[in-house]
Amino acid sequence: MAGKTHRIGPSIIDTARVFASEENCHTYLEAARWPNGVTCLQCGHSKVSKFTVKGQVRQYANGEVKPTPDRFMYQCLNAECKYQFAATTGTLFSDTHLPLNKWMMAVALMCNAKKGISAKQMERDMGVSYKTAWYLNHRIRKAMDEGVGDLFTGVVEIDETYIGGKFDERRKRQKYDKPPVFGILERGTEDKPSRIRASHIKAANHYFIGPKIKGQVSPEAKVMTDESRLYEALDKFCDHEIVNHSGKEWVRGDVSTQGVDGFWSLLKRGIIGSFHKVSVKHLDRYIGEFQFRFNNREEQEIFAAVIIGLVIKTALRYKALTAKTANSLPSEIEFSDEPF
Ligand SMILES: [Zn+2]
Repeated sequence: MAGKTHRIGPSIIDTARVFASEENCHTYLEAARWPNGVTCLQCGHSKVSKFTVKGQVRQYANGEVKPTPDRFMYQCLNAECKYQFAATTGTLFSDTHLPLNKWMMAVALMCNAKKGISAKQMERDMGVSYKTAWYLNHRIRKAMDEGVGDLFTGVVEIDETYIGGKFDERRKRQKYDKPPVFGILERGTEDKPSRIRASHIKAANHYFIGPKIKGQVSPEAKVMTDESRLYEALDKFCDHEIVNHSGKEWVRGDVSTQGVDGFWSLLKRGIIGSFHKVSVKHLDRYIGEFQFRFNNREEQEIFAAVIIGLVIKTALRYKALTAKTANSLPSEIEFSDEPF
């Protein structure tokens, strides 16, 4: 490819072209869900036949008439089973009548939006209703949730900040009801870029921060923080260097928290620019989205990673469901905080 591009996902135009047909979308999903060939969701049998259910014209209560897309289905060839399913069965894609190409477009938009994209913006860009945009936005954000992975090591920066909150017009400054956000950044090396893990915490104190540090930072790490008393106890846990921000010292040798500061500014600009205000309830999902984009910024396959997130994470729940162990289902299967 000629020239240097700095985008982090596929271009919207490429996505629209590749995923113009439902069949292409389906083929892509199939490969994401079953990289080693389709197997029955009910019994695991590897012999399945494919068939297509032709789309119909659907009439809605408000008189609107819309065609539904063709559906690409499988039937299990195990005579005892004969289960019929689709690549979307039991995934985040399945409880919607949206054509798959809308999902693909929405994923591409969110991968590319460095400052995030609001449901309002998505409504305009995709020509869908606000309700649909909101739905897509939240489910894709869920697929971007990275969870807790391996411990960060090497040089690690730790910091906390405050996001959003109301602006006090009278005093011309932010009110102190802003939710605290805690972040840990592992500095990049020659082979891998830096990574961040950030989350909303109830309060900036040892009680909430301690377990996060112990759960996410290796005792071998060399940790950099500012002079906040929050981090005093770190000396007992690992090698700890302090940069004295109140003394106007921002960098001393390699001691700084500039990596994590960079992430904070990205997050804050995004939330102010695209979302205006974010309720505390949804804050972790927004942070998760920014974290995902940051951690995958050099990843060519970011789009595929989100699609895999959408099919695989929920497919796990489906397994639990069909195994009739309903009590092992995660409670997050309900998206109860949605406006409809
Ligand atoms: Zn089967």
